[in-house]
Amino acid sequence: MNYISTRGEKKKLNFSDILLLGLARDGGLYIPQKWPKFSAKEIKRLKNKNYNDIAFEVSRKFIGNEINKKELKKIINNSLKKFSNKEVAKIRPLSHYEWLLELYHGPTLAFKDYALQIVGNLLNYTLKKKKKKITIIGATSGDTGAAAIDACKNKNTMEVFIFHPKGKISEVQRKLMTTVNSKNIHNIAIDGDFDDCQKIIKKLFVDPDLKSKFNFSAINSINWARILFQTIYYFFSVIKIKSNKNIIFSVPSGNFGNVYSGYVAKKIGLQFDKLIIATNSNDILSTFTNKGVIRLKSIKHTITPSMDIQLPSNLERFFFDLFKSKTKYVNKSLKKLFKYKRMDINKEKIKQIQKFFYAKSVSEKETINMIKEIFIKNKVIIDPHTAVGIAAGRKLNKNKHPIVYISTAHPSKFPDIVKKSINQYPDLPRNLIDLLKRKEKYETIELNYYKVKNYLLKQSNFVKNV
Ligand SMILES: *Cc1c(COP(=O)(O)O)cnc(C)c1O
Repeated sequence: MNYISTRGEKKKLNFSDILLLGLARDGGLYIPQKWPKFSAKEIKRLKNKNYNDIAFEVSRKFIGNEINKKELKKIINNSLKKFSNKEVAKIRPLSHYEWLLELYHGPTLAFKDYALQIVGNLLNYTLKKKKKKITIIGATSGDTGAAAIDACKNKNTMEVFIFHPKGKISEVQRKLMTTVNSKNIHNIAIDGDFDDCQKIIKKLFVDPDLKSKFNFSAINSINWARILFQTIYYFFSVIKIKSNKNIIFSVPSGNFGNVYSGYVAKKIGLQFDKLIIATNSNDILSTFTNKGVIRLKSIKHTITPSMDIQLPSNLERFFFDLFKSKTKYVNKSLKKLFKYKRMDINKEKIKQIQKFFYAKSVSEKETINMIKEIFIKNKVIIDPHTAVGIAAGRKLNKNKHPIVYISTAHPSKFPDIVKKSINQYPDLPRNLIDLLKRKEKYETIELNYYKVKNYLLKQSNFVKNV
């Protein structure tokens, strides 16, 4: 299977290449050159399979012969062993037409574990085979960092530097990162906000001095392998839920990674109705879906920080389809968007978006009310991101079509918001009950590029002497 860049890079690459590269060298994102297809018959054959086997069957089509079957199976099984629920993803009915898909049974309690645990092991396998080492650098507003750290810890082919904004993530989020005791993991608190962290990362990536000394890599949702392994729980839901009408999914969205994976699942043959893009007041995705307009605005900080995003990075993958694979138009529209901070698309394209997606933005008040409503009616505690998905779903699904709400995080990651809503704190899962007492290790660095750079040079075990 070959992969191409959304911006037209000429060289064709295979799965291992793009796994290691992450971002395409022309600045674009990788997508398959030719999409695999699942026939209805093939999907029917998955009926009796468990989560692991579905992951194997689906990913095999995208990986091809790059990794042999036995090895891939082993990697998937080892990665998913760490999940606390025996079905891996838990489907919980909320009413006769509604289900919650709980994607927080991984080691760091957010849906990002479902792909990252596997991606970490795939990376390790590929690096060993190619006798390479990488330095992963990334900024986090909370969930990505923890999931990446857990996926990469204790692996000697990689080292990880994660930057978080000091005092601006929840204590549980921070401790899931800083209590990991592994030589290859480095946590850095920056005296600044998430945008400052991201600016530093971007600068580190292109610093010519560092480029000669490191093999930098990223592990955010621009990596195709993450998108791929996020399609699995869409397959799993459609296969396991008995419903005579096609299902709708409602997905709390930020970077458009999760919901784009749903789109991919549908594109390759999975039968379901539409995807609801649920956003908080950073409503770029809902305005785009409903009106065909993108306006770049500054970020509003909300009670759902994992969805506080200015420009969703994975939109570019969808643009590729929207512009009928013409990379020239993808490039042109992105340039325009950055220049004018605005982009408009025509009616025909709006129709094409709406063929797949509905979208709704949800306020903080509605979010808090929804946590309460679900708690009173179902005796289930949900996290604020999940609440955004349910609130958007219920607003748009007045005629009670079968619907799955994707639950993206465990409520104990956001205890203060939950407390505010239901006047009680959510418990941490049993295996993490002592998390807040565990010993933390992280470095605080002031907002100064050269101090960060020096720290990296000093702490890295992989820095090359040139
Ligand atoms: C990352 C995250 C999201 C947003 O997912 P995208 O793939 O960026 O759209 C939503 N909720 C939670 C809890 C997250 O961690």
